[in-house]
Amino acid sequence: MFGKEYMLESLAAISKDIIEHEEYLNHLDNVIGDGDHGTNMARFARIILQDLPDLAESEEHLGEVLRHVGMRCITEIGGSAGPLFGKFYLQAGMIEIDNLDMEEANLVAAFEEGTMGVANIGKSSEGEKTMLDALFPAVRAMQQALEEGKGFTEILQAGAEAAEEGVEYTKTIQASKGRAAYIGVRSIGHQDPGATTVWLMLQSMYRVAVARRAECE
Ligand code: ADP
Ligand code: MG
Repeated sequence: MFGKEYMLESLAAISKDIIEHEEYLNHLDNVIGDGDHGTNMARFARIILQDLPDLAESEEHLGEVLRHVGMRCITEIGGSAGPLFGKFYLQAGMIEIDNLDMEEANLVAAFEEGTMGVANIGKSSEGEKTMLDALFPAVRAMQQALEEGKGFTEILQAGAEAAEEGVEYTKTIQASKGRAAYIGVRSIGHQDPGATTVWLMLQSMYRVAVARRAECE
């Protein structure tokens, strides 16, 4: 089980990690897209860091916090990543978590919902060299860890590892969605920036869970 403090701390960690990787994400996007993925995501991250103190003060429950993050992403961030990650958080926040704690099953359900949201709005599926190639494997790994009775930290670890493998997989395939699809076969050999962001997000969540293991398990 985890609470609002964990969620806000994870959002802070995710945001800082994205800002640290701004140039790297731009570089990845420069190779197969238009080079703005790091800029887009860092803008999102800076807005969230600004919002966090108010979210901490507010009475908003976990679902509302996720939906707030999603709305900020949709309304403030350019590129495809804004609406796509926005939809992820918005939809993740639609699950039944109208209180201040979240069970392991809620975490996995939120990731699953968010991922379905991205696939719906992006009209995309696995194997098209997008963020979904990190999200879907992460969801499956987290579901399996949940079924095996693993705790919060191990579920996130499984998700982060699967996302990393998903990022590696994106190097091997040709893009059929997003800007990278324009360069066709030349996209093969390069990793997808959006999938890389998903991996960074899960890694940050895992690291915070390890640091707060005593409260989270
Ligand atoms: P833009 O492509 O508009 O410049 P970004 O560079 O911020 O926006 O984001 C690019 C990322 O968005 C890609 O690396 C990919 O992961 C993701 N993406 C693009 N189109 C789709 C889609 N239809 N479905 C899922 N993810 C997508
Ligand atoms: Mg781009």
